[in-house]
Amino acid sequence: TTEQEAVRAAVERVADRMADEKEYLTDLDSAIGDADHGANMNRGFRAVHEKVSEMDDAPPDELVKTVGITLVSEVGGAAGPLYGGSFMTASAELGDGITAESSVAFAEVFLEKVKDRGDAPVGAKTMVDAITPAVHTYKKSIEEDDLKPVEALTKAVDACERGVNFTTPIRATKGRASYLGWRSVGHQDPGATSTLFIVKSIRETAV
Ligand code: ADP
Ligand code: MG
Ligand code: MG
Repeated sequence: TTEQEAVRAAVERVADRMADEKEYLTDLDSAIGDADHGANMNRGFRAVHEKVSEMDDAPPDELVKTVGITLVSEVGGAAGPLYGGSFMTASAELGDGITAESSVAFAEVFLEKVKDRGDAPVGAKTMVDAITPAVHTYKKSIEEDDLKPVEALTKAVDACERGVNFTTPIRATKGRASYLGWRSVGHQDPGATSTLFIVKSIRETAV
Protein backbone atom coordinates (compact mmCIF):
# COMPACT_ATOMS: atom_id res chain seq x y z
CA THR A 1 0.00 0.00 0.00
CA THR A 2 0.95 3.67 -0.20
CA GLU A 3 1.32 3.75 3.55
CA GLN A 4 3.76 0.84 3.57
CA GLU A 5 5.70 2.52 0.78
CA ALA A 6 5.76 5.78 2.74
CA VAL A 7 7.22 4.05 5.81
CA ARG A 8 9.82 2.26 3.69
CA ALA A 9 10.77 5.48 1.92
CA ALA A 10 11.11 7.31 5.22
CA VAL A 11 13.30 4.56 6.67
CA GLU A 12 15.54 4.61 3.63
CA ARG A 13 15.84 8.40 3.74
CA VAL A 14 16.68 8.40 7.45
CA ALA A 15 19.29 5.65 6.92
CA ASP A 16 20.89 7.62 4.08
CA ARG A 17 20.89 10.81 6.12
CA MET A 18 22.47 9.14 9.16
CA ALA A 19 25.20 7.72 6.91
CA ASP A 20 25.83 11.19 5.44
CA GLU A 21 25.83 12.88 8.86
CA LYS A 22 27.77 10.22 10.75
CA GLU A 23 30.88 12.36 11.16
CA TYR A 24 28.94 15.51 11.96
CA LEU A 25 26.95 13.79 14.74
CA THR A 26 30.12 12.24 16.10
CA ASP A 27 31.84 15.64 16.12
CA LEU A 28 28.94 17.11 18.09
CA ASP A 29 29.09 14.17 20.53
CA SER A 30 32.85 14.44 20.87
CA ALA A 31 32.46 17.99 22.21
CA ILE A 32 30.04 17.12 25.03
CA GLY A 33 29.84 13.31 25.12
CA ASP A 34 31.77 10.21 24.09
CA ALA A 35 31.95 10.66 20.31
CA ASP A 36 29.72 7.75 19.34
CA HIS A 37 26.35 9.26 18.40
CA GLY A 38 27.09 9.28 14.66
CA ALA A 39 28.26 5.66 14.69
CA ASN A 40 25.31 4.66 16.91
CA MET A 41 22.67 6.22 14.67
CA ASN A 42 24.31 5.04 11.46
CA ARG A 43 24.63 1.46 12.69
CA GLY A 44 21.07 1.51 14.04
CA PHE A 45 19.37 2.81 10.93
CA ARG A 46 21.45 0.65 8.61
CA ALA A 47 20.13 -2.37 10.52
CA VAL A 48 16.60 -0.91 10.49
CA HIS A 49 16.76 -0.46 6.73
CA GLU A 50 17.89 -4.07 6.24
CA LYS A 51 15.16 -5.46 8.49
CA VAL A 52 12.38 -3.39 6.96
CA SER A 53 13.51 -4.32 3.43
CA GLU A 54 12.92 -7.98 4.29
CA MET A 55 9.32 -7.44 5.49
CA ASP A 56 7.39 -7.63 2.25
CA ASP A 57 3.76 -7.63 3.35
CA ALA A 58 3.96 -6.10 6.79
CA PRO A 59 1.46 -3.33 7.59
CA PRO A 60 2.81 0.14 8.53
CA ASP A 61 2.43 -0.32 12.29
CA GLU A 62 4.48 -3.53 12.18
CA LEU A 63 7.15 -1.85 10.11
CA VAL A 64 7.40 0.99 12.60
CA LYS A 65 7.44 -1.45 15.51
CA THR A 66 10.37 -3.22 13.84
CA VAL A 67 12.15 0.13 13.56
CA GLY A 68 11.89 0.43 17.33
CA ILE A 69 12.87 -3.14 18.19
CA THR A 70 15.89 -2.93 15.91
CA LEU A 71 17.07 0.39 17.35
CA VAL A 72 16.80 -0.97 20.89
CA SER A 73 18.81 -4.07 20.01
CA GLU A 74 21.41 -2.44 17.73
CA VAL A 75 22.06 0.91 19.38
CA GLY A 76 23.53 1.01 22.83
CA GLY A 77 23.86 4.15 24.90
CA ALA A 78 21.14 6.62 25.72
CA ALA A 79 19.70 7.24 22.28
CA GLY A 80 18.98 3.62 21.27
CA PRO A 81 16.47 2.76 24.00
CA LEU A 82 14.96 6.25 23.91
CA TYR A 83 14.32 6.37 20.16
CA GLY A 84 13.72 2.62 19.90
CA GLY A 85 11.35 2.37 22.85
CA SER A 86 9.32 5.28 21.55
CA PHE A 87 9.03 3.90 17.99
CA MET A 88 7.97 0.54 19.49
CA THR A 89 5.27 1.90 21.78
CA ALA A 90 3.98 4.64 19.48
CA SER A 91 3.69 2.23 16.53
CA ALA A 92 0.51 0.84 18.13
CA GLU A 93 -1.23 4.14 17.29
CA LEU A 94 -0.87 3.34 13.57
CA GLY A 95 -2.76 0.02 13.79
CA ASP A 96 -5.74 1.31 11.79
CA GLY A 97 -3.55 3.08 9.26
CA ILE A 98 -1.66 6.35 8.97
CA THR A 99 -4.05 9.28 9.03
CA ALA A 100 -3.78 12.88 10.22
CA GLU A 101 -5.39 11.78 13.49
CA SER A 102 -3.32 8.64 14.07
CA SER A 103 -0.09 10.44 13.19
CA VAL A 104 -0.81 13.05 15.87
CA ALA A 105 -1.43 10.25 18.38
CA PHE A 106 1.81 8.60 17.27
CA ALA A 107 3.75 11.84 17.78
CA GLU A 108 2.24 12.45 21.21
CA VAL A 109 2.96 8.92 22.48
CA PHE A 110 6.47 9.13 21.02
CA LEU A 111 7.24 12.26 23.04
CA GLU A 112 5.55 10.91 26.16
CA LYS A 113 7.65 7.74 26.08
CA VAL A 114 10.94 9.59 25.59
CA LYS A 115 10.08 11.69 28.63
CA ASP A 116 9.00 8.65 30.68
CA ARG A 117 12.16 6.73 29.94
CA GLY A 118 14.71 9.54 29.95
CA ASP A 119 13.14 11.75 32.62
CA ALA A 120 14.45 14.88 30.88
CA PRO A 121 12.36 18.07 30.93
CA VAL A 122 12.56 20.64 28.14
CA GLY A 123 15.73 22.66 28.68
CA ALA A 124 18.00 19.81 29.80
CA LYS A 125 19.82 19.96 26.44
CA THR A 126 18.59 16.66 25.02
CA MET A 127 16.54 15.31 22.13
CA VAL A 128 13.46 16.30 24.17
CA ASP A 129 14.23 19.93 23.24
CA ALA A 130 13.80 19.04 19.56
CA ILE A 131 11.00 16.47 19.84
CA THR A 132 8.74 18.63 22.04
CA PRO A 133 8.36 21.65 19.72
CA ALA A 134 8.09 19.37 16.69
CA VAL A 135 5.27 17.34 18.25
CA HIS A 136 3.40 20.34 19.66
CA THR A 137 3.62 22.20 16.37
CA TYR A 138 2.52 19.14 14.39
CA LYS A 139 -0.51 18.62 16.64
CA LYS A 140 -1.52 22.29 16.54
CA SER A 141 -1.08 22.52 12.78
CA ILE A 142 -3.40 19.54 12.24
CA GLU A 143 -5.98 20.13 14.96
CA GLU A 144 -6.21 23.92 15.07
CA ASP A 145 -4.90 25.18 11.76
CA ASP A 146 -6.43 22.35 9.67
CA LEU A 147 -3.23 21.80 7.74
CA LYS A 148 -2.59 18.61 5.80
CA PRO A 149 -0.02 16.23 7.34
CA VAL A 150 2.66 17.23 4.82
CA GLU A 151 2.14 20.94 5.56
CA ALA A 152 2.05 20.24 9.29
CA LEU A 153 5.33 18.35 8.94
CA THR A 154 6.92 21.39 7.28
CA LYS A 155 5.93 23.47 10.31
CA ALA A 156 7.19 20.72 12.60
CA VAL A 157 10.59 20.70 10.87
CA ASP A 158 10.92 24.46 11.44
CA ALA A 159 9.95 24.11 15.10
CA CYS A 160 12.34 21.19 15.51
CA GLU A 161 15.17 23.25 14.04
CA ARG A 162 14.49 26.06 16.51
CA GLY A 163 14.58 23.42 19.27
CA VAL A 164 17.97 22.21 18.09
CA ASN A 165 19.32 25.77 18.08
CA PHE A 166 17.91 26.30 21.59
CA THR A 167 20.15 23.48 22.88
CA THR A 168 23.35 25.37 22.03
CA PRO A 169 23.38 28.16 24.65
CA ILE A 170 21.98 26.08 27.51
CA ARG A 171 23.63 23.85 30.11
CA ALA A 172 23.06 20.10 30.01
CA THR A 173 21.37 18.62 33.07
CA LYS A 174 20.64 15.12 31.68
CA GLY A 175 22.71 12.52 29.90
CA ARG A 176 26.44 12.33 29.45
CA ALA A 177 26.77 16.04 28.59
CA SER A 178 25.57 16.93 32.09
CA TYR A 179 28.90 15.65 33.49
CA LEU A 180 30.45 18.75 31.90
CA GLY A 181 28.13 21.13 33.71
CA TRP A 182 28.62 24.70 32.49
CA ARG A 183 31.27 23.55 30.02
CA SER A 184 28.43 22.07 27.94
CA VAL A 185 27.25 25.62 27.16
CA GLY A 186 27.88 26.69 23.57
CA HIS A 187 27.63 23.21 22.05
CA GLN A 188 24.69 21.87 20.04
CA ASP A 189 23.16 18.65 21.37
CA PRO A 190 23.85 15.62 19.14
CA GLY A 191 20.60 13.80 20.00
CA ALA A 192 18.46 16.86 19.23
CA THR A 193 20.34 17.11 15.94
CA SER A 194 19.63 13.49 14.97
CA THR A 195 15.97 14.11 15.82
CA LEU A 196 15.94 16.93 13.27
CA PHE A 197 17.38 14.59 10.61
CA ILE A 198 14.63 12.06 11.35
CA VAL A 199 11.80 14.62 11.23
CA LYS A 200 13.22 16.17 8.04
CA SER A 201 13.49 12.76 6.37
CA ILE A 202 9.88 11.97 7.26
CA ARG A 203 8.83 15.33 5.82
CA GLU A 204 10.80 14.74 2.62
CA THR A 205 9.17 11.37 1.98
CA ALA A 206 5.65 12.17 3.21
CA VAL A 207 2.88 11.98 0.63
P1 ADP B 1 25.47 8.04 24.95
O1 ADP B 1 25.36 9.40 25.55
O2 ADP B 1 25.07 6.96 25.89
O3 ADP B 1 26.82 7.80 24.31
P2 ADP B 1 24.39 8.72 22.36
O4 ADP B 1 25.65 9.44 22.14
O5 ADP B 1 23.96 7.78 21.28
O6 ADP B 1 24.37 7.95 23.76
O7 ADP B 1 23.19 9.76 22.52
C1 ADP B 1 23.38 10.97 23.21
C2 ADP B 1 22.11 11.79 23.14
O8 ADP B 1 21.07 11.16 23.87
C3 ADP B 1 22.24 13.16 23.75
O9 ADP B 1 22.77 14.08 22.83
C4 ADP B 1 20.83 13.50 24.18
O10 ADP B 1 20.11 14.16 23.15
C5 ADP B 1 20.18 12.15 24.38
N1 ADP B 1 19.95 11.88 25.80
C6 ADP B 1 20.85 11.50 26.73
N2 ADP B 1 20.24 11.33 27.92
C7 ADP B 1 18.93 11.61 27.73
C8 ADP B 1 17.76 11.64 28.58
N3 ADP B 1 17.84 11.29 29.86
N4 ADP B 1 16.58 11.99 28.02
C9 ADP B 1 16.51 12.32 26.71
N5 ADP B 1 17.55 12.31 25.88
C10 ADP B 1 18.73 11.97 26.38
MG1 MG C 1 27.52 9.30 22.93
MG1 MG D 1 28.05 6.08 24.26
